[in-house]
Amino acid sequence: MTYGMIATWRMACDGIAAATKDLANGGTSQKAIVDAIKMVEDYPFYKSVGYGGLPNEVGMVELDAAFMNGDNFDIGAVAGSRGVKNPIAVAEKLSHERFNSFIVGDGVAKYAIKEGFEMQNMLTERAKKTWSNRLDEMSRSNLSPYDGHDTVGMVAVDKTGSMSCGTSSSGLFMKKEGRVGDSPLSGSGFYVDSEIGGATATGLGEDLMKGCLSYETVRLMGTGLEPQAAVHQAMTTFANQLERRKGKCGAFSLVAMNNKGEWGVATNVEFSFAVATENLEPTIYLAYPAEDGGYPTIEVASQEWLDAYQTRITAPIQ
Ligand code: ASP
Repeated sequence: MTYGMIATWRMACDGIAAATKDLANGGTSQKAIVDAIKMVEDYPFYKSVGYGGLPNEVGMVELDAAFMNGDNFDIGAVAGSRGVKNPIAVAEKLSHERFNSFIVGDGVAKYAIKEGFEMQNMLTERAKKTWSNRLDEMSRSNLSPYDGHDTVGMVAVDKTGSMSCGTSSSGLFMKKEGRVGDSPLSGSGFYVDSEIGGATATGLGEDLMKGCLSYETVRLMGTGLEPQAAVHQAMTTFANQLERRKGKCGAFSLVAMNNKGEWGVATNVEFSFAVATENLEPTIYLAYPAEDGGYPTIEVASQEWLDAYQTRITAPIQ
C-alpha cells in the first residue's frame, strides 16, 4: 500500500518531509502526525502554533490541539493549554483514554505534568513584542484584532492503510481569554476514517465550526467522491449557505487525503499547503480560489516565494 501526508500551510513542510521518511520505512501514521506537528510546534518563528505562538488579549499563550486515529476513531484534544511544550503529544496521549479525552484550561498542564510531558514558557520575546505592537496599533486605529492566524493540520496514511490526523494552533491572535476555535473540535478542525480518508481545516474557527467541514469532506469521500471533489463540495456548499443566510463567511481552507494517498484542497483565500507521498517529494503548493467557483488554481511555490516567506517570518520586530 502507499503512504502520504498532506498539511495546511508552508510551515508544515519540514515536518512532513521528516515524517514521510519514517512512513517510507514502515512507520505508523500516528507517529508521523505527532512527530511532524511537534516540529512545527517547536519552531519559534511560526507565530500561530506552539512555542512562539501569539498570545491572547491578556498576553497569555493558550493553545488548542487534537489528534485522531482513523482506525478506531479515538480522539484526544486540549484547549486553552498553557505552558505545555507539545500540545499535540498530550492530545495523542489523551486519545488513548476511555474517559476525559478532551481537557481544557488548567487541567491540561496538570494532566501533562502527571504524565511526564515537558513544560515550557511558550511566550517568546518576539511574540510578546508583536502582541504589544498590536495593542498600540489597536489603540490608534479600528483595526480588527483578529487578523493573522494559521493552524497546522495534517492527515497521514501509512503503508498498512492506517490513517491519522492532528491539529495544533494558538488560535486567533488577540482572542479572548478561554476562546476555543475549531482546531480541537472533532468534525470541524479535523476528521479521519481509515476506511475512507481524512480532512483538516484552517481559517476562521467561529465559521468553520458552524459547518463541521472536515467531517463533511470525509463523509463525501465515503460516498465515492475523489478528495478534490469532496473537499470542494463541502467547502463551497457551506460557504455559499453562510453568505446567503448570514451575509458573510470567514476565511476557509481545507486539505483532504484518502486512504490511497490521493488528495485535494479547497479555499476561499490564497493558501499554502504541503504534500508528500510515495510518488511525490515533499512539495509546497499555493492554492488560489477560482473566481467562477470552480476548483482552486494550484501551483508549486517558487523559490522566490519561499525566500520571501522565510525573510518575512524571521525579520526583526521593532
Ligand atoms: N482555525 C483557527 C481558529 O479559529 C485559526 C486558524 O486556523 O487560522 O482557532
